[in-house]
Amino acid sequence: MDCLFCKIVAGEIPSRKLYEDEHVIAFYDIAPQAPVHFLVVPRKHIATLDDLQEEDKPLAGHILYTAQRLAREQGCEEGFRVVMNCREPAGQSVFHIHMHVLGQRRMAWPPG
Ligand code: AMP
Repeated sequence: MDCLFCKIVAGEIPSRKLYEDEHVIAFYDIAPQAPVHFLVVPRKHIATLDDLQEEDKPLAGHILYTAQRLAREQGCEEGFRVVMNCREPAGQSVFHIHMHVLGQRRMAWPPG
């Protein structure tokens, strides 16, 4: 399958890895939008959030929990933002779900 994040999960494309377990990996975003910006990515290929199935509910919780734990480890105890872009109009560019975690700067709302 021609999926960038599947290739990163498989170790075929290098990444600056922060964390991995049997369900997810986390690595720094190649084009950071904040002093801390990393992605939490399930090993399982799921193209968009709209493709999430009932059986994926524990995985979705694990992604969120991993994001929170790593954000703390990365010194974001004052606050951080998580983002999941679903489909191209919402800003998704890699079609393998991933949670952005951004921190160590002040965030604006509403997001652009
Ligand atoms: P999205 O636009 O929400 O689909 O997010 C995709 C993210 O993946 C963007 O923030 C990109 O900068 C990031 N990205 C693309 N290629 C790589 C890569 N090889 N390693 C790390 N991050 C990447």
